[in-house]
Amino acid sequence: MDIIHLLPDSVANQIAAGEVIQRPASCLKELVENSLDAGATRVQVIVRDAGRTLLQVIDDGIGMSEMDARLAFERHATSKIREAQDLFSLRTMGFRGEALASICAVAQVEMTTRRKEDETGTLLEIHGSDVVRQEPCSCPVGTNIKVSNLFFNVPVRRKFLKTDQTELRNLLNEFYHIVLVYPKVSFTFVHNDEIVMELPAGSEKQRIEAVFGNPKRNVFTSSFVDINTVTDLVSIHGFVVKPENATKKSEQYFFVNGRYMRHPYFLKAVLTAYSGMLPNDYQPSFFIYFDIAPEAIDVNIHPTKTEIKFADEQTIFQILMASVREALGKFTLAPQIDFDTSGSIDIPSAQTRPVSQPKVTVDPNYNPFNARHSFVEQQRTVNHWESLYEGLKNERSYSELNDGMSASLNDDLLHPEDVSSCPLWQYAGKYILLPTGHGLLLINQRRAHAAILYHQFLEQLSLTQGAMQQLLFPEVLVLPPDEMVLVQDLLPDLRAIGFDIEQLSPDSYSIQGLPAQLVNQSAVLVLQDIIHDVRERGADTQREWREQIAATLAENGAIPYGKTLSEEEMRELVTKLVELPHYQRTAKGKTIVSVLSDEEINKRF
Ligand code: ADP
Ligand code: MG
Repeated sequence: MDIIHLLPDSVANQIAAGEVIQRPASCLKELVENSLDAGATRVQVIVRDAGRTLLQVIDDGIGMSEMDARLAFERHATSKIREAQDLFSLRTMGFRGEALASICAVAQVEMTTRRKEDETGTLLEIHGSDVVRQEPCSCPVGTNIKVSNLFFNVPVRRKFLKTDQTELRNLLNEFYHIVLVYPKVSFTFVHNDEIVMELPAGSEKQRIEAVFGNPKRNVFTSSFVDINTVTDLVSIHGFVVKPENATKKSEQYFFVNGRYMRHPYFLKAVLTAYSGMLPNDYQPSFFIYFDIAPEAIDVNIHPTKTEIKFADEQTIFQILMASVREALGKFTLAPQIDFDTSGSIDIPSAQTRPVSQPKVTVDPNYNPFNARHSFVEQQRTVNHWESLYEGLKNERSYSELNDGMSASLNDDLLHPEDVSSCPLWQYAGKYILLPTGHGLLLINQRRAHAAILYHQFLEQLSLTQGAMQQLLFPEVLVLPPDEMVLVQDLLPDLRAIGFDIEQLSPDSYSIQGLPAQLVNQSAVLVLQDIIHDVRERGADTQREWREQIAATLAENGAIPYGKTLSEEEMRELVTKLVELPHYQRTAKGKTIVSVLSDEEINKRF
């Protein structure tokens, strides 16, 4: 008996849909791209429940004839290419002709569409690939497509969707990618009846300003310089932030031929152009648009992938780097600052950081070892530190970092018993020196404290018992929509660690208290740091968030350089440090401990 048979179209479409439509954001991308391919000048996006129940896109594009409306939902039905050759001269966003077929296989779709030349439009309703209604209707020129109950017939997919907050964040990110390349088209984005974004038509710069130029995003085009380079191979234009306006939080966007792309290699070119101009941890914001002959890039990319392959990447790397350098050169009259001498772990010191940046506040009376600040210490005596961190020994990032990096040093340099009696000195307000059997040990005091705090915070996060310090004056954190939803995701952990934080309005939180280890810090700045770091690292799982939150808080809470430590304080710091599972490096891989061996010392004489 023959056992092979062809799958019915509806099943084949559902399988294909799994590739093209993975979440509401991919559906939104396909619909908006279709509107733009149809020459729309105005696109409205209406979303309900982060796209789970409704995703609607209304455009004023060319519309479809009755026949085309029906054909559009067939697989491999497209008006954009006719033969394989066309693939190499593509200027439209779509070309595969599988988006609508995929969407209608996994949702309930209702579409009305009309061309300018037609008196009546067409209404079409398709549920899970079955056409349930097709009739003439009266409707404006353009296309209005409503996708309801996405994945209604694919429970597994539905289950894999993340929280509404995460899905909304994905939707907005996808939306940003598109609106930034179509400044001449006006867009609105409505979620649950609220207008989240209203973007009038304008120039590229105006569009960037409209999306990011608010106090919440803090990316103002006035702090940008233009780049502009035209070569035979590629044209590059766009905007890069002036070094003095760079912040820790950046918006980095590459586009090629009107399409958003991720390109780690080209990112390196931009960063290289900035090298030596930015403090540690600062990132340049940029919006860079490439124009290149379509045949010089690989168009046959996967619909959901944003990486794009170029034919001659090395040359473009050089052109890009030179272009950014030139633009920066024109505007940086000041000599380069050597940030290595700024004496900081991750945060540059007050003298070298740009004026607009948050200052590291140095409180001369601040004692990090004061019982008030050391929550864990209150609960357990020093002897119990070992057991305290037992569960943390398997933590990935911290331990792996150390495994890979401390080849020359092992963690057995120092034992708590040694520390209790040996002499200790502080040097340059920055290092603790102590003699050991291996030589003279130099310990970076700020990093040591950061490492201790990192473990404390991780521990508190897992036990949900961070100690909180009430603020006298509540602070208000105002955020853009996608960061509002990110904070929603982080809320349980933020509360666990000691933030007293409540949503105040659709775009703000009020903070009444913060972790006890962070007194004297601005709650808003600390939270902005956390949001930035979590976003940059793309932390997705709760463990990654927690590591990120703990690392960011530890940096913020660590004692500053220049703080004079008493012998007792130094001893306590070192004792706690050596009791950590790994103490050679901070969570971010920076050296805490260095040894000057007897041999090295002897050699000098
Ligand atoms: P592709 O965009 O790859 O061609 P799609 O499945 O996304 O494939 O769309 C199929 C076809 O339907 C398009 O080629 C286009 O002709 C038509 N179409 C889809 N959306 C619109 C729209 N908003 N306005 C006009 N035509 C559209
Ligand atoms: Mg399409």
